[in-house]
Amino acid sequence: MTKHALITGITGQDGAYLAQLLLEKNYHVYGLIARRGTDTTGRLHELGIAGQVHLLDGDLIDPSSMIRALEKSKAEEVYNLGAQSFVATSWDQPILTAEVTGVSVVKMLEALRIVNPKARFYQASTSEMFGQIQEPLQTERTPFYPRSPYGVAKLYGHWITVNYRESFGMHASSGILFNHESPLRGTEFVTRKITLALARIRHGLQDVLELGNLDSKRDWGFAGDYVRAMWAMLQQEQPDDYVIATGETWTVRQFVEKAAVHAGFDIEWRGEAEQAQGIDRKSGKIIIRVNPAFYRPAEVDVLIGDPAKAHQKLGWKREVSFDALVQMMAEADLQRAAK
Ligand code: NDP
Repeated sequence: MTKHALITGITGQDGAYLAQLLLEKNYHVYGLIARRGTDTTGRLHELGIAGQVHLLDGDLIDPSSMIRALEKSKAEEVYNLGAQSFVATSWDQPILTAEVTGVSVVKMLEALRIVNPKARFYQASTSEMFGQIQEPLQTERTPFYPRSPYGVAKLYGHWITVNYRESFGMHASSGILFNHESPLRGTEFVTRKITLALARIRHGLQDVLELGNLDSKRDWGFAGDYVRAMWAMLQQEQPDDYVIATGETWTVRQFVEKAAVHAGFDIEWRGEAEQAQGIDRKSGKIIIRVNPAFYRPAEVDVLIGDPAKAHQKLGWKREVSFDALVQMMAEADLQRAAK
């Protein structure tokens, strides 16, 4: 029997990779798509799957559109990936973030209770819920202490998912995903901002890359690996929560250095912290500059996840290393900039 799945956020990075994975598994894939002024299906086109998914108009603000999407799709699996997902924007638009990233989760769960309470539900939780670190390696049992309106909104989405599982016996699981990147990552996120800017500098389209805190440490994986974990969670007999991470941490500075090599630069750092500059040894030009405007009002200094539970119970393992991820992103952006 062909399964039906509904993905919110199908036009985003993860939505596109997840749609591709489910199509490979012969699912009928439906996606909730919000009305925007411009076409948002670029990632689905890049993966060559735009014609294979069924897009249903709807918005996470509007539960009636969720009910209609659930009815039309007859989804047995719902992947709730839609969100205002950019941490920095959440300080400028905290109420929108609370609505779209937090409250919409209970709207979707209520819509499911009305249309199909037996459907399986995946909630896109995040390592940003850990925020100010309570334990050096974060697991499913590490206490949460979010440090941004985004993290706070996601924490609501996480706990309401747990609560509906416990209150109504729903098959609702939450993936606490650490940062995951790809050539399809939004250009506002630091990894993609780096690879795109370096490619543009290489091709003479831009002079300097401006960054915030170079010493932030993150656990970065490849989005294509992480969507496999989402699917695996919904195939389990029992719903549960899982940390999905690599267990390694790298600084923004290290990401820059590795990406720079692929773009043909050799970075030498001068100055400290907010004064830091990255100079290309070959040309002698300043190509990276720290701009304190990009610092977060409340910083999350280091995130490292422990994916042991996902390894044991889901049999999930990442396939793409950090170096391979940086290379993949750098090369994709060099090709784009060349065009
Ligand atoms: P993206 O920002 O790439 O995608 C977000 C998606 O949500 C887009 O499709 C966007 O649509 C959609 N969306 C935003 N607002 C609405 C709305 N009001 N109604 C309907 N759809 C809306 O995020 P990612 O793919 O990177 O992440 C997927 C999920 O995982 C998100 O919930 C994110 O917060 C979470 N997450 C991501 C991590 C990461 O490192 N990538 C880490 C941990 C969690 P549109 O294109 O029209 O704006």
